[in-house]
Parts: sequence; C-alpha cells; structure tokens
Amino acid sequence: MPSYAFLNNEFIPLSEAKINIMTHCLHYGTAVFEGIRGNWNNEQKQIYIFRPREHFQRLYQGCRVMNISLPYTLNELCRITVELVSRCGFEEDLYIRPLAYKSSESLGVRLHNLEDDFLMLVIPWGPYLDVDMARCAVASWRRPEDNTIPPQVKITGLYVNNALAKTEAVLNGFDEAIMLAPDGYVSEGTGENIFLVVDGTLVTPTSYSSILMGITRNTVIQLARDELGIETVERPVDRSELYLADECFLTGTAAHLTPVAEIDRRKIGDGEIGRITSQLQEIYSRVIRGNHPKYLDWCLPVYRQEATA
Ligand code: PMP
Repeated sequence: MPSYAFLNNEFIPLSEAKINIMTHCLHYGTAVFEGIRGNWNNEQKQIYIFRPREHFQRLYQGCRVMNISLPYTLNELCRITVELVSRCGFEEDLYIRPLAYKSSESLGVRLHNLEDDFLMLVIPWGPYLDVDMARCAVASWRRPEDNTIPPQVKITGLYVNNALAKTEAVLNGFDEAIMLAPDGYVSEGTGENIFLVVDGTLVTPTSYSSILMGITRNTVIQLARDELGIETVERPVDRSELYLADECFLTGTAAHLTPVAEIDRRKIGDGEIGRITSQLQEIYSRVIRGNHPKYLDWCLPVYRQEATA
C-alpha cells in the first residue's frame, strides 16, 4: 500500500517526497522531530493516534530552542496528521514522523537568517525493540548536558549521541544501551526512558539527568498512580541501583513498555518480567488502542466510523 507524506504544504506520495541536497538540516542536524504512534484496533477497525497534542507541544518547544518558526497551530497539526494517516489507509500499527527543519538551500553553521519548513511522513511499524525482554548495557557514551545540546528537546543533530550508544550496545550483543548523564547518574535509553521498581515503588531519573521528558513516561506515571495506586519517585539514580532493582522497564512511543531482563550481564530480579511491569504493560496496551474508556481523550481516531444502531 503506498504511503503519503506532507511536504511543502501538500499531501504527496512518499516516494515523490524529496528535498534538495543543499538543505541546511541535512548538513548540520538543524531540525526538530517527533515520533507519534498510530495504534491499530482490529475489533473497531480503527487507528488511534496517541497523545498527538503532547507530541506537538514538545515539537513547538524544540522549535523555540532551535529558532524554527512552525507555521501551523496545534489544531492544524492534528488535522494534517489525521488527513495524512487516513490517506494512507493502513490497517496496522504506525509510526508518524513530523519534522520541523531549517529548509534553506544554503550552507553555513547558524540558526539565524534561514528559512524553516515542516514535513510529516507515516510508515507501518511494529515493535521497535523486537524482543519480549530487553538485554541492556550501560553505554560508554554519555548524554550531553543542557549547555552542550539540550537533551529535553528532540533535535535531530543530538541523536548522533544516541546512535553511537545504540550501535555500541548492539555490536556488543545487547538490545539497547542505557546512557549515563554527565555526572554519572543514570539518564535513559537511546529512544526510551527507564523505570525501576524498588520495594513496590517506581523510581525514574529526573529532568536534570539529561533525559527527554517522555510522553510514555508521563503516561506510565499517571497509570501507575491512578490504576495501581503506585507512586513514582523522580530522583537521581545510581548505576548500581540498576543491578539491584526488583524490576526494570523502558518506556517510549516506539518501544511502548519493554521489560528489561538484564543490565551489564546482571539479571534484574529473577530475569523474568516482574509483577508491576506486567500489570502496567497490560493497562498501557489497552489505553493506547482505545480500549480503556477512561483514557479515550488521549486517543485521536483516524477513520470515520459508520454510525451503528
Ligand atoms: N528518550 C529519548 C532519547 C527518546 O528519543 C525517546 C523517544 N521519543 C524517549 C526517551 C521516550 O519519549 P516518548 O515516550 O515521548 O516517546
């Protein structure tokens, strides 16, 4: 099935969506992106886009940092997303990639005196970490601090850091890397936040440990509190706490909620999925597919449904 893209304010086939080789962001990483999920609900024959407003709000924040002006309102961005996904007509899980970028066909390291543009594409995409439980290793590459490249926004150039860590982990036989902050505290995975279960409570690194403030992280904190009565403590996390945790899992739009089996060849708990992790995973998977009535506000349906009697 052909996919479509939104480029230069038009919907066109993905195969025809091209940009010039002089485009500024190709050379200097001067763009801001998002990753949004469209989750297929087979019973309802519906795709639910999960928390698009929060993703676009984070995109706007990145644009402010990067001096990019985005000429669409939040409602327009949501409308463009629904239109693009419905044109594609997919009946499976999707990944939506909006990108706000320095579009001038002009070289020179800077953010000022450049034109900006916005594009979006959609691809079918199943599980990102395609394992039931991830085997992780602490990366030798650290996250940058905020005065190096702000890690709280999704700047494309920043992701060289993540790519270095991910490839190191995978070439060493692991599924994912866990990066440390500049001060040595635990930060996050290369595309996921990290949670530990310690004595029945959730523990996760804070904003000042060079993390991206994940939307899945926020979702899981709310679901743990409101559905399971479990609080989350946001605090600096030592590396050795990773080895001692009762349970550990990663959260991200692409990776959903992925349990961690081992870190640096040390089993987490008994190496099997933990009780709290599996409860959260079950609730989360219902919520993102529009199967939990209480959280339907987070789910934007794409396909128009016939009215049923
Ligand atoms: N950290 C990093 C570095 C990421 O790239 C992502 C994916 N966007 C996350 C965490 C998780 O964020 P979210 O739950 O908003 O997808």
